[in-house]
Amino acid sequence: MKRLLLILCCILAVTSVNSCSNDELTPDNDKDINETPVNPDAPDENPDEPVGPEDPQEPEDPQQPEFQIIRPIFDAQFNDDGTMTDISDSRYHVNTFDGLYMTTWKHPSYGGNLVRFSHSYGETFSDSYHKFNYSMEKDFKNRLSDGYSLEAICMFDDENDGSLEIKAFSSMESGGTGIMISNNSKGKVLTFLTNVSTTGKSNWVWGTSGIVPERGRYYHIIGVWDKEKGEAKVYVDGELKNTVKTYGEFVFPSTPACHWFCIGGDPGATSAQAAWKGDIAMARIYDEPLTEEYIKNYYPTLGINIPKSDFLPENVMYLTTCNIAKGGSFVISGWGFQSSDILIIESDNGSYRAECSCQANEINITATLPEDITDGRYKLIMKRNQDLYPLGKVKFTISESAIELKEAKVIAHRGYHKDGIPENSIEGFKKAQELCVYGSELDVWITLDGVIVCNHDGVMSGKTIQNCNYDEVKDLKLGNGEKLPLFTDVLTELKKSKVTKLILEFKTHNTREKNNLVIDTALKMIDDAGLNDMVEYIAFDYENCKRIAAARPEAMVGYLNGDRKPADLLADGIRSIDYSSGTLASHPEWIKEAQDLGMIVNVWTVNSDNELMKWLGEGVDYITTDNPDNLQAIIKAFCK
Ligand code: MG
Repeated sequence: MKRLLLILCCILAVTSVNSCSNDELTPDNDKDINETPVNPDAPDENPDEPVGPEDPQEPEDPQQPEFQIIRPIFDAQFNDDGTMTDISDSRYHVNTFDGLYMTTWKHPSYGGNLVRFSHSYGETFSDSYHKFNYSMEKDFKNRLSDGYSLEAICMFDDENDGSLEIKAFSSMESGGTGIMISNNSKGKVLTFLTNVSTTGKSNWVWGTSGIVPERGRYYHIIGVWDKEKGEAKVYVDGELKNTVKTYGEFVFPSTPACHWFCIGGDPGATSAQAAWKGDIAMARIYDEPLTEEYIKNYYPTLGINIPKSDFLPENVMYLTTCNIAKGGSFVISGWGFQSSDILIIESDNGSYRAECSCQANEINITATLPEDITDGRYKLIMKRNQDLYPLGKVKFTISESAIELKEAKVIAHRGYHKDGIPENSIEGFKKAQELCVYGSELDVWITLDGVIVCNHDGVMSGKTIQNCNYDEVKDLKLGNGEKLPLFTDVLTELKKSKVTKLILEFKTHNTREKNNLVIDTALKMIDDAGLNDMVEYIAFDYENCKRIAAARPEAMVGYLNGDRKPADLLADGIRSIDYSSGTLASHPEWIKEAQDLGMIVNVWTVNSDNELMKWLGEGVDYITTDNPDNLQAIIKAFCK
């Protein structure tokens, strides 16, 4: 038999767990795995060696039936140094993608380590997660294919508007499985998701639990796929919550690039997705469907008793990468702080720990950094009375004198298009003006007969705008009922309010003539409207940028394509590097290079609060975002 059994007497298991609160949650975790005589290929235990109830050292209680703990084939242990180890007998290799949004900490009631993830809600992210890659683990795949179970303990620490799926422990991509919180369409509930099909094509089986997780509460979840019975089941805190009938074979993620379990999110081919926010204390995989009877007996042996964290500050934000002076002040903004709250900073390797002198009110803590602090990464731990609450990590660069955080200008990407307002709409442009952001970006195309219209994509409702006369596209409607906006209507709105600039993107047309025509036509219209000082220009096509810069040497022109150094652009009169966050992350030196040349640096498109704060900390001049209102709030909180 393949599965590994550790035979224990139930009464002993319960007694040992309950007598030691520090071991309550993870009775298996603290054992030295090497002491456990297990061999996956051993057909039977040595008949001469008494085990469990027959062991003379452990007399049997006649009242209790024998209870066998089933060993997982993957069992996450979160180490003090921030890494993760599989402590099951499989000892699968795990990669830790270290980062500022993952903090390993010892929960006083849990006894063991757990991991706090401080990503932005549901975001795609490139670090701060653990990865168990099974793409080359044939044996592991076989063990899952005939039925399996997942087990996790997790705590969700955020407001959940249900707009996104959030994944704690997951391996999904058009196939796969995991433990997650569903989005609104499935009720925002704790869910075991598996993919089982009779055709080989992806078929999601939703093991929804009906439980909307309370913020700060720890839940124990088991998801089971029983191939033989044709059932998926989900258990929360030891109770069966749902059974879904499903027949067929398990479908793995559609691409081998996603054949990995993410602890703290969900795999993408090149990054991680659907970020968890909150704690994960356990992540286990079993190669068999655990039965209801088993779980009923097993759950009490865990002795789970982690109190709900009832003082979690909300919307915690701070600059994760921060240039700061010795003795300077560091602000953490949020909601629900108290005047007695203290900030503790602890170096990543634990060698330095200090309580900061703090001033706190409901919406922020201002901490004065100690004089002896040096460059490096630190855990930020909030202390209230005797309770500790890790907020996340920060990277400090310490200098002699105070550095003021530069206030980046806010550019609304394709206008303000939240709350059902379409991109590139007049309504979105007006809304950006109402917010008084620095700029509102819009994309333009020219029709065959020379009319300029606003749209991001070149094709709308099957019509290629640049190959149509205006008559053919004029009745196309946006989601809010607006007609395809005319550029001239944008200029009319621009004229009414002289606060928000138009950041005009010329899309790349299929001939040089059209590219030239759209630029020349737009520039003349802007000139005629007397709006030269209210428009800045951007384009991916380098020739387009050069043409605008030649015609309007005084105007700010930005090149978008990310493949040229700042000095090269400036030589052609292009005064802004307007590059994606990925490009600038690969070439951080271009920020200072450009600014030293008197150029402007814009980064696009940055949306999550964490990323917005990161780029604010990098000192860029403009940030283009789909969340201009969030960026304004962040700037207000952190830039003096
Ligand atoms: Mg654009």
